[in-house]
Amino acid sequence: MPSLEEERIGLVKRLESIGILRSERTKRAALLVKRELFVPPKLRKYAYRDTPLPIGHGQTISAPHMVFMMNELLDLREGMLVFEVGSGSGYHAATVAEMISPGGKVITSEILEPLAKFAWENLRRAGYHDRVSVVACDGSKGLKFKRKPERILVTAAAPRVPRPLVEMLEDGGKIVIPVGDTPFFAQKLVLIEKKGSRIMEKAITDVAFVPLRGEWGFR
Ligand code: SAH
Repeated sequence: MPSLEEERIGLVKRLESIGILRSERTKRAALLVKRELFVPPKLRKYAYRDTPLPIGHGQTISAPHMVFMMNELLDLREGMLVFEVGSGSGYHAATVAEMISPGGKVITSEILEPLAKFAWENLRRAGYHDRVSVVACDGSKGLKFKRKPERILVTAAAPRVPRPLVEMLEDGGKIVIPVGDTPFFAQKLVLIEKKGSRIMEKAITDVAFVPLRGEWGFR
């Protein structure tokens, strides 16, 4: 039986060979973050299957290929401030934290209180307590920070792009978000770029995410 470490390296090689892991930065994050620390203990043996896994409360940790495809689209760099909507297990936030180190910071929001706690525990145990903050709130309404985030990552599917997220984004910034008007089906992963008053949207690929809740989500 291969160890989890060997399985992680195997998954990274596969994701590289199919063109998901492109930059050294993304590859490094995939190698460094231990996904087994972010899934329920009973599912640890499946941590390096390239599939979503249940994390309780009807929610899932996304498949690794989706996490890294989104990170590549976000074009993450050192020192950035990144806002995530949908902490879930905290895994995606940890991979972003690796990609914006040193000096970067992730603020991740989670609408379900028990999952905010789950994410925070996982992040703390995995050693990301100083680079990631978890806020239990409706992230679809945006959040006020001292500085505007350069990147926003949404990991639940929205019926439409939440306007507060576009407003809180730094000029020149990017958002990656799944959008679709029917929960669970027929969603597009959308890349948004903000250049002054110009907002450019590009549909990248078909995806299936859990629904976004809250003010700008499905209620
Ligand atoms: N990024 C996560 C996967 C998230 S699944 C990971 O790495 O594990 C989507 C998450 O979004 C769920 O936990 C869900 O509760 C949360 N969510 C849904 N609507 C939200 C909202 N309006 N604000 C914050 N979190 C939300």
